[in-house]
Amino acid sequence: MLILALDFGGTKLAAAVVKKGDRHFQSYQRTLSPPKANSSTDIQIMRSLALELLNGEKPAAIGVSFGGPVDFKTGTVRLSHHVDGWENTPLKQILENEFQAPASVDNDANVAALGEHRYGAGINYESLCYITVSTGVGGGWILNSKPWRGSGGMAGEIGHTVVDPSGPLCLCGKRGCVERLASGPYMAQEARTRLQIDLNCGHILRRICQYQPENITGLLINQAAENGDKIAIEILKKAGWALGVGIGNAANLINPQRFILGGGVTKAGPHFWETVQQVARQIALPEVEFEIVSAALGDEAPLWGAVAMAEDLLNKSSE
Ligand SMILES: [Zn+2]
Repeated sequence: MLILALDFGGTKLAAAVVKKGDRHFQSYQRTLSPPKANSSTDIQIMRSLALELLNGEKPAAIGVSFGGPVDFKTGTVRLSHHVDGWENTPLKQILENEFQAPASVDNDANVAALGEHRYGAGINYESLCYITVSTGVGGGWILNSKPWRGSGGMAGEIGHTVVDPSGPLCLCGKRGCVERLASGPYMAQEARTRLQIDLNCGHILRRICQYQPENITGLLINQAAENGDKIAIEILKKAGWALGVGIGNAANLINPQRFILGGGVTKAGPHFWETVQQVARQIALPEVEFEIVSAALGDEAPLWGAVAMAEDLLNKSSE
């Protein structure tokens, strides 16, 4: 039996075919979403990727990770913050009609949490919080070994928990959210501002971005920090602090066994990681135990979570 796993990211589209029970992709394809993508072009590209991978065979079930809020029960995409035209798209229905197989659709943080739980850093843990820190900060919960989506599907928004009410303004309209301090683009913005204000600081960072502050990314800030740049180190530590406060508070509220961190920013070095660990430990009560670890599946966590959702569909139908 073949499983089709699809990952609609903000900027990339990935698809894989897996034999039920296997722990490797039978075939895999990824491509960048075109610059002026909308929901129809994304669906069209994904359709041709899938048909190519399936090579004339029919999938028994389809699992889908989507980069934006999804109504899990109906499999309807609410919207995408990155790609136009996704408002209220019945993605589950579209895929079921196209491939004549049952489909399950959920948002990427929930799906990645399930992927890590089933096949990655969360195997044998019945409670965990997966947090992705990249262009945004998203989260997904597994509680009692099942995804916990919240009553309206909005659980896991650790990115917009407030850690500094008088801090800088976030795109959500509030101040001092974890995402405002720890996401890659906001860290880059902070670095640019700092370089502009004081022309005598950040020499290493300036050199690493080749004196083009508009080229600064989270990755370059990390490189500069590893080379001892003070501004870069401060920004990374601030990001680690914000995430640590968010995690410490979440630990106090829910008491999960593990926090699993994925996404580009978490590839940063010790300035980031040590701060996250220390601050989370300081914020949580001494009796609240938890571990903070790296994701094991990396960028493939959403696809493996999609495989898990499809396997669940098949197991349900054979019960
Ligand atoms: Zn926010």
